[in-house]
Amino acid sequence: MSLKPVVALVGRPNVGKSTLFNRLTRSRSALVADFSGLTRDRHYGEGRVGEKPFIAIDTGGFEPVAKTGILLQMARQTQQAIAEADAVIFLVDARAGVNAHDHEIARQLRRNSQRVLLAVNKAEGMAHNAAISEFHELGLGQPLAISAAHGDGIVELIEMALEGLGEAPALVSDEDDDFGDADPGFDPDADPQAEDVPEAPVAHRIKLAIVGRPNVGKSTLINTLLGEERVIAFDMPGTTRDAIEIDFQRGGRDYTLIDTAGLRKRGKVFEAVEKFSVIKTLQAIEASNVVLLMLDAQQEVSEQDAHIAGFILETGRALVVGINKWDGLDDERRERIVREFERKLRFLSFARMHTISALKGQGVNAVLKSVDAAHAAAFAKLSTPKLTRELQAAVEQQQPPRKGIFRPKLRYAHQGGQNPPRIIVHGSALDAIPDSYRRYLETRFREAFKLAGTPLRIEFKSSH
Ligand code: GDP
Ligand code: GDP
Repeated sequence: MSLKPVVALVGRPNVGKSTLFNRLTRSRSALVADFSGLTRDRHYGEGRVGEKPFIAIDTGGFEPVAKTGILLQMARQTQQAIAEADAVIFLVDARAGVNAHDHEIARQLRRNSQRVLLAVNKAEGMAHNAAISEFHELGLGQPLAISAAHGDGIVELIEMALEGLGEAPALVSDEDDDFGDADPGFDPDADPQAEDVPEAPVAHRIKLAIVGRPNVGKSTLINTLLGEERVIAFDMPGTTRDAIEIDFQRGGRDYTLIDTAGLRKRGKVFEAVEKFSVIKTLQAIEASNVVLLMLDAQQEVSEQDAHIAGFILETGRALVVGINKWDGLDDERRERIVREFERKLRFLSFARMHTISALKGQGVNAVLKSVDAAHAAAFAKLSTPKLTRELQAAVEQQQPPRKGIFRPKLRYAHQGGQNPPRIIVHGSALDAIPDSYRRYLETRFREAFKLAGTPLRIEFKSSH
């Protein structure tokens, strides 16, 4: 299984990194994680530009001059991201010109072995040569003029960044699956047999990624799951792009653990890559069907937890949450912790939450049961007649609100994909449907089809 290539965006503040990041990931605002009390900034996203799938990282905190404290921490994380990324896009500002910070970043990038693309941003309306000429002095090859705000030069930039990386063009777009869209003349009542099709998932192995911040107990849990006879064969440094899959069986069910540890030998400067790697985490999530997100009962929910959870949401993977280190807590603390995690993780409420002890093996079987259920939900087959009936019942109970002179009309629904399940609702004037109504439908479908543990995407298609 091949891992998605990673493109890191670097540059001093204000050059347009987050503008470019948003354009590359075309983030769906509704999906942005809203951990109460924590930032909503996203730093990781699925790339949605060009032919090839990729992961984009906005290294917003890059501060090459930072020498102390939190800034140094951030710089180290950024440096690790740069060392591990497949390609780095270094943004500079065409209007501001070259400055000392740019030189400092360029100096650091030249010491790495990564592919670096020098993108001269804010170049809209400027003569090409005027925009790029002074940036040659950074010594990073031919500068490319782009405009993140206007979208100029972005596809070319990404194509150059990804050239020769990853697999053949196979944009992992939701459109690529077997489902397709029903033809516009489709009559939902014409297929009465379809609802007899069992809604069982395809009986294949569950690809499971176990993720969480450092020291949360991932390795401990993996050891508990794999038992003593775990073969230590995955520490070999290599340059392969493949994820390592470790098969195991538990309770008569087949799982494949996605392990991306020990991959890739990279960047001579940053050879001392830390035990925890954001990039490996992201790649493991991408390569999995179900994610087990581990949190630490003895620590506060952190920004890092929020970022990882946000990325899981964005990819649409099925999810189970394990609150680890539950042993050794008294009852009063346990109650408080459960309340707090439930409040902070409200946006993950589709996922089952377990309290566990990886160390003692407590709660592990229950977690795996939820993993199975989440997998079954993610691959559920939703028949068109049933979906349509549920849609009509939902509308009967509560009509979508009028917008101006338009009242949206919902006609029928069919399934457009799995993992996550996508439900395509057809009708007219559907652009006017507010997000609250989409959520209402989601709840209805979720209950009707018992879809616990997976995100559910509802898309509207107006016919003309
Ligand atoms: P970051 O600090 O590097 O993440 O930069 P931002 O993405 O926040 O952008 C900084 C400022 O530059 C914002 O006011 C953006 O609107 C502006 N900006 C970003 N890209 C462009 C561009 O292509 N053209 C112009 N003219 N302004 C841009
Ligand atoms: P990783 O970085 O996520 O792989 O975390 P590790 O598995 O290396 O665990 C970090 C530390 O937490 C180790 O000292 C473990 O012994 C400890 N730990 C892991 N799981 C538990 C648990 O369920 N309870 C307690 N009390 N400690 C745990």
